[in-house]
Amino acid sequence: MTQQDAKFRPQSDGPLSHLGRLIAVSSGKGGVGKSTVAANLAVTLARQGLRIGLVDADLYGPSIPGMLGIPGDTPPVMSPDRKVIPAEAHGVKVISMGMLSGDDKPAILRGPMVTKYLQMFVTEVAWGQLDMLFLDLPPGTGDTQLTLAQAFPLTGAVVVSTPQDVSLRIARRGLRMMEQVNVPILGIVENMSGFTCPSCGEVTHIFRQGGGQKIAASLDVPFLGSIPLDPAIVDSGDGGTPLVVSAPDSLAAQAYAGIATALSGGADQPGGLAVPFDWHIARGEGKPSAANPTSQNPSDRPVSLDYDDAGLAIGWPDGTTQTASPRDLRLSCRCAACRDEATGKPLLEPAAVPLEVAATRIWSVGNYAIGVEFSDGHNSGIYTFEVLRGLESTEAEDV
Ligand code: ADP
Repeated sequence: MTQQDAKFRPQSDGPLSHLGRLIAVSSGKGGVGKSTVAANLAVTLARQGLRIGLVDADLYGPSIPGMLGIPGDTPPVMSPDRKVIPAEAHGVKVISMGMLSGDDKPAILRGPMVTKYLQMFVTEVAWGQLDMLFLDLPPGTGDTQLTLAQAFPLTGAVVVSTPQDVSLRIARRGLRMMEQVNVPILGIVENMSGFTCPSCGEVTHIFRQGGGQKIAASLDVPFLGSIPLDPAIVDSGDGGTPLVVSAPDSLAAQAYAGIATALSGGADQPGGLAVPFDWHIARGEGKPSAANPTSQNPSDRPVSLDYDDAGLAIGWPDGTTQTASPRDLRLSCRCAACRDEATGKPLLEPAAVPLEVAATRIWSVGNYAIGVEFSDGHNSGIYTFEVLRGLESTEAEDV
């Protein structure tokens, strides 16, 4: 196994494991640059040598083929085993409704059909082995997006927003929606966050600055970076050559590269439990291996996890181990069913939680949280590392 294989180990051995990490790119509303972000991230990672696929799931207004220079009238080719062979551009394998319908007119599709087409795009396409498959979702936070988010075992979602208040408020709604269906938020990208002067390169903040960062902080999800407003992005998108290819040294291309690195957990990312894991405690599978604490480990990320009857033992980079009992973990669930979103008041009655409740599965959520499934069937809670750190420990000791 090469180092790259190890780093991009698929999350499960299921039928979609050859797709690597499934990452949705979403936005609360159209026109914020979601498809441009998806295309530039995909091409950046492909140019770094990763095997990348991109599904243009924005079925109503497919724009990916145009941005990557794929002719709209390319008829799909079928493989001998009756799978659609994806187009390839700038090193990225691409499938889009635009290619199947032969033009770029918005397809008139009803909600259930959208899910059916997408299912086909993911499962009936000859992707081969991938490290990551990006899904450029249709804009919005309605039923279609909810269904799509639930239809696939997503590794997580990237939410794109512009810095204006209204856009950020909608992005917040989208984040809540993803969390409710247990899709981890990999982070927020703020697009068009300042204007880069074409002659002097200086960045002017036309809209207010830092809104994306604030929302990310208030919702306790990572902020992945800001991309400046740059007219060259429009030209390169219209011309079919994404900016990261036409102007790789530009500020915007560097911003895309930074976000791509954050998503891929690149070599320069500090350690901790960054490698995705899906640990079925009941079956003894997928247990995360402990990382070596170094000065590189962020202080808020665990370096080891262990589980036994006493509970979840969390090792922190400062050498301390904290043990949270299974029942305490269950009672501190912050999902919408267990805690009032507005007031933070617990909704879960302690008497309703069996004394002998146990964790049956623990999995990584981005690089900021874990998900836990319990023996009472509850599995919608996401525990950020910050929340874990704040839990009362039944035992704390120096290692
Ligand atoms: P969405 O997928 O959210 O509907 P698109 O990616 O299609 O949005 O982008 C909408 C328009 O905005 C396109 O013309 C695109 O070239 C332009 N655009 C996207 N990001 C930027 C940016 N950072 N600076 C300038 N124009 C941008």
